[in-house]
Amino acid sequence: MKVLNENHQNLLADFVCSLRKKAIGKKREFTNEQLEKPVSFWTKTDRLIDEIGKEFTVILRTKGCSWALGNSGGCTMCGYIQDANIKAVPSQFIIKQFDYALEQKVNELNNQKHNYILKIFNSGSFFDETELDSGARKHIYQRISEIKNIKEFVIESRVEYLSSDHLTELKHNLKNKYIEIGIGLETVNDYIRNNYINKGLMYKNFLETVNLCKSYDIGVKVYLLLKPPFLNEQSAIDDCIDSIKSLIDLKVNTISINPLNIQRGSLAEYLWYQNRYRPPWFYSLFKCIKKAVNQDDLKKIRIVSAPSGAGTKRGIHNCLKRECNSKMIRMLNDFVLNQELNRLPQKEKDYDCDCKIKYYLEKDYF
Ligand code: SF4
Ligand SMILES: [Zn+2]
Repeated sequence: MKVLNENHQNLLADFVCSLRKKAIGKKREFTNEQLEKPVSFWTKTDRLIDEIGKEFTVILRTKGCSWALGNSGGCTMCGYIQDANIKAVPSQFIIKQFDYALEQKVNELNNQKHNYILKIFNSGSFFDETELDSGARKHIYQRISEIKNIKEFVIESRVEYLSSDHLTELKHNLKNKYIEIGIGLETVNDYIRNNYINKGLMYKNFLETVNLCKSYDIGVKVYLLLKPPFLNEQSAIDDCIDSIKSLIDLKVNTISINPLNIQRGSLAEYLWYQNRYRPPWFYSLFKCIKKAVNQDDLKKIRIVSAPSGAGTKRGIHNCLKRECNSKMIRMLNDFVLNQELNRLPQKEKDYDCDCKIKYYLEKDYF
């Protein structure tokens, strides 16, 4: 593998940054009324640690990810900054956003028989003070501690914002809930992560954070990126298999495999417009899971995947026939909910679409 020197890395960061600035420049400002509501929220069936239950997901609108707003320009596949406010969002607005979502769903949460997993995402870092301050965090903890049916709580953060104080506060406020912190590792390979994804994260720092979480009995959910920019289909499969196996050995609690989807203003979008990038095939995702995981592993680790834009040109897809993709999406959901490998296609005959031949050609020769 050719090694990029520091100048090349700076060039990439400068380029990602210029794309990002252009995309942000076209954004309209949000009104106060808009800032009082979250980006979105929903409930739907989901996999909990030991059972099928429901997720309650809330996406908060904050200032945006500091990594994307800084000189690095952010990660090469990420366009979340498009949903962000860019300017600081005062704490009382964040609280209103969360309360708004909760008010709409609180009856469902209290009255249904299911258990729930609450996921709060802010397309950045939950512990970054410029996105959410401690007042907003404490308010959220206090509100959810009152809801019995919420059994699991998931947030996400870059490792540099995660400290012992944050974890102490979390544990203290949410004594009876299983807590997981999502970390975007993307791959176990430092070279791919930092040169192709522009993540600005070393594996050794990730490991320190995993150990810190373990010492507080807090779970770790790791996001993996399937097919970063500059990898072809086969290298992407190899990288993902490698990453899943290493994380199983490391005994993290959940792996979320995110097949790259083309997001606005990202380097991936720039390459995609030039026909220099294609999102991964479903066939590749299934191959990664089947090769890296065995049924026994799934007693100790949860493997999930909820691809954005699945079945469209911008998301993971096979050919563009609707029935081909919908069959794949059904099988993937079935696997995630039940955590059973036999829900995925088992033999060649389970793939009954002509595009399998095109896939093999593309994977093996390009
Ligand atoms: S992937 Fe995460 S860390 Fe990277 S720019 Fe997007 S929000 Fe920030
Ligand atoms: Zn097909």
